[in-house]
Amino acid sequence: MNSLSITIAKDVGFCFGVKRAIDMAHNAAETYGKVAMLGDIVHNEIVIDDLKNSGVVVYQNIDDIPQGMPVLFRSHGTRKEFWEKARERGLTIIDATCPLVDEIHKASQLLESEGRTVIIIGDSGHDEVEAIASQLSNPIVIATAKDAFKIKPVKKAGVVLQSTQFIENVNQIITVLISKIQDLRIINTICTPTRNRQSQLKELAVNNDVMIIVGSFTSANTKRLTSISSRLNPRSYQVQGPDDIQPGWFKDAQTVGISAGASTPDEIVRKVAKKINNLSI
Ligand code: SF4
Repeated sequence: MNSLSITIAKDVGFCFGVKRAIDMAHNAAETYGKVAMLGDIVHNEIVIDDLKNSGVVVYQNIDDIPQGMPVLFRSHGTRKEFWEKARERGLTIIDATCPLVDEIHKASQLLESEGRTVIIIGDSGHDEVEAIASQLSNPIVIATAKDAFKIKPVKKAGVVLQSTQFIENVNQIITVLISKIQDLRIINTICTPTRNRQSQLKELAVNNDVMIIVGSFTSANTKRLTSISSRLNPRSYQVQGPDDIQPGWFKDAQTVGISAGASTPDEIVRKVAKKINNLSI
């Protein structure tokens, strides 16, 4: 095999919001012994196991959290009713909501205070989107341009975006909304770490023979990165870790770009790079 030149995207591994939440979860587990969390902190099995071993207990329902156990609210935000329930029950709340997600909540409330129907561009059912929607009286959630065509006419609308949305998808949706709504205000709430990752991914996909995207197959964010990369470079492959690497992918290749979803630990990316490097020795 040829010697391979490997370039890893500048921003890989957890975004700062997720890193902060994981650190807060470890610290809380150390302080309190056990800490409850509603759902997983990040779509990554290795991180989840590590947190469980340090004392984090995952519950799917707030009513199941034992009295006296503190609860950590995750980086992508928590529905308003869960905040109310936790307060009612007198649970200690450790708020690990990413400050950039907080800004989306504020932006959506601002739009509503202007008398606008708030349209959230994001994945319906995703925790971040649900948490944003819970702040508002009558929001509309749309994920695709097709959804945008279906919404009923409104006079005044405001748009916020799930922090991890892809710019191409948002562009398509906005094009439809502009044709339907006259008084439309858009607040771009795609977060800076997401924007940086998307532009680095595109640059790598165009400039390398093979692209590897590292991340869990349960992570919507990683799957989207893979689909963008595939459009720019058909030799794009998603792997969960080094064991998924297939030597045949690198036949006649000289350059390899590596990117990773926002929920992929740095360590796994390094292991993948090492495995590819070993193939070319
Ligand atoms: S993706 Fe952006 S908004 Fe979401 S947790 Fe990470 S930094 Fe915060």
